[in-house]
Order: sequence, then C-alpha cells, then structure tokens
Amino acid sequence: MKDRAGRALMIDYRSLSLGELEDWARDMGLPAFRGRQLFSWLWRPGFWDFSQMTDFPKALRKMVAEKGVLTDLQVVAEQHSVDGAIKFAWGLPDGLVVESVLIPGQGHNTLCISSQVGCAMGCRFCNTARMGFHRQLASSEIAGQVLATLRRIEERERPTNIVFMGMGEPLANYDNVLKSIHILTDDLGLNFSLRKITVSTCGLVPEILRLGRDTDVGLAISLQAPDDKTRSQIMPVNLRYPLSRLIEACHRYRLSRRRRITFEYLLLAGINDSLEQASLLAGLLRGIPSKINLIPYNEVSRLPFRRPASEQVLLFQQVLRDANYTATIRKSKGQDISAACGQLYAELQERG
Ligand code: SF4
Repeated sequence: MKDRAGRALMIDYRSLSLGELEDWARDMGLPAFRGRQLFSWLWRPGFWDFSQMTDFPKALRKMVAEKGVLTDLQVVAEQHSVDGAIKFAWGLPDGLVVESVLIPGQGHNTLCISSQVGCAMGCRFCNTARMGFHRQLASSEIAGQVLATLRRIEERERPTNIVFMGMGEPLANYDNVLKSIHILTDDLGLNFSLRKITVSTCGLVPEILRLGRDTDVGLAISLQAPDDKTRSQIMPVNLRYPLSRLIEACHRYRLSRRRRITFEYLLLAGINDSLEQASLLAGLLRGIPSKINLIPYNEVSRLPFRRPASEQVLLFQQVLRDANYTATIRKSKGQDISAACGQLYAELQERG
C-alpha cells in the first residue's frame, strides 16, 4: 500500500480479515498459514507486541513489525453504573474518541459499539448528531472496541451479544462494518456467533438490502414514528428514504428461519406516543416478522424532548400487544453514567 506521494504505508493488521492476511502472506512470499497464524495472534486479548509471536522465527517477527502496526484503543474514561452497565470512552490513534457500553442482562451481556466518530444523519433526539460527522472508523477500530473491552473486564462480564448501536450509522460505513463482522465472527478472530450480532440502522434502504445479501446478522431498524410527517420531523433520513421504501426493504430483507427484524421505537412525549400512532405502527409492520422495542426517551440536557409518563408507555405497548406483536419496554441501563450515545464524549469535550 502506498500513499498519494508514493510512500509505502504501514499496514493496519487488525483491519485485515483472515483471507486478506493470507493474501498478504502470499504477497510477502510466505506460506498462507503465516497469515492465519498472525490473524489468530491479533485478536487475543493478551497480545500487545509482535515479539510475543513465538511460533514465528525471529527474522519474520521483525519483518512483520517493520511492515505494519497494531491499532490499539486506549481507555480515556470508564464509568460504572449502579445497575452494572459500564461505559467506555476509547482514544483512537488520531486522538478522537468513541464510546462503547457494556450492558449486563440476565444470562447475557450486550456490548454496544460505535461505527463512526460522530454521525451525519442528524436525528433530532440524538446526542451524537450534535457532534456532527468526524470520520469513519476503520474495521480495526470497530472490532478493536470489543478487544479493548475484553482486556478491561472479568470473564463473567464477557459480552455474549454485540450490537452496532453506538455512535454513528453503521450502514454509512458499510465496508468497514462488514469486515469487522467477519473479524468478530471468525473462530480464529473474536469467535462471536452471527446470530448474536445486530446491526441497527436509521433506514439506509440500499445498504439494508445489501446487508441481507452479504451476511446473516440481526437487523434492527431505528423507526421512531409510524408516519412520514412525524418521522421526517425527527429523522431527516426519512426525506431520502420515506417509510414506504423502508418498509418495502424490510419485507424484502432476507431473514433466516425464526429470525425477526427488531424495530426500535423511542417514545417521545407528545410527538410519537399517542395511541393512534400505536395503531398506525401496528398496521405499518403487518406481515413483517418483527419484534418492537419501546424505549422511553432518556432525557438529555439541551435537547427539547421529554420522556412520556409510564402509564402512556404501558398503554402504547398494550395496543401493540392487542395486535399480536411482541412489544417490550426497554429498561434504560446506566442512566446515572451518561449512557445515551454520545453523552460521555460530550462530557469529555466539556471537561477539555
Ligand atoms: S440516532 Fe444513530 S443514526 Fe441517528 S444521528 Fe444518532 S447515531 Fe446517527
């Protein structure tokens, strides 16, 4: 790899999939198994330095170290909630910061990871949107959040599920997200099951269909409204891909047996929480294998939205249940630790 001026660039080894590392080994005149060996070292939590690769001859270790780098994320803040959630802010090699949140559940732990620094989608209720878009994360920085988390937690806290619901729109960083999924699920990599990974999108229709063709991860749609008027007010992406196109893509999305699309519905008092809107939602999703996650809004200072009363949330849920949907109310974890996406980053910025 060369830069525009023709200078050789260092390879970011952790951004390469197993197949790419095997190709790299061949390009270097090495047998492909050296690429495989290197890949398996890269994703061990205890691996920090090429000198640890004791199954590589010394000269080969030196060559590997000279040709490329190990991208490691450094923790710059860690907050523990009373309910067990842990929020990490990771420093990237260029000094920018992204977040991950580990959320404990009964019998499973979920790690929520970021795919971009900031976000360009501009959802009105989102703290990350206020940061604007800074840059795409490399696949080493996406899968690297999982590796860095594994280094800081105990075995019993190990995540069982990975969700792309942190900072950024994952499908706007499609290639790097897809490669990070390959790394996360390779048994020589981080060895997660595809069934335990969920990608959440605000509704980029062409990429949703592409994702269904390319992989078998779970799909979550950040829906937030059952009609175009309301949705366009709070999610500008709806002007580009209105509900008719989004819902059609959900019908066409290739789902393997017994899987369902998760629809995330953030309840904002007086905006999308009426019972008429609950009925509209029930009609909209008819025929799509789906489950609905109702999320009462977590109030963020400086954003004008309010959390609905608990009774209203229960009534909204009941309308969906009466229409035979699985509709759960997500309990917010980590409310005491700035666990809404982009909040810890915003605090760090304010602290300077
Ligand atoms: S909700 Fe998601 S897609 Fe929308 S601005 Fe925030 S990070 Fe981006």
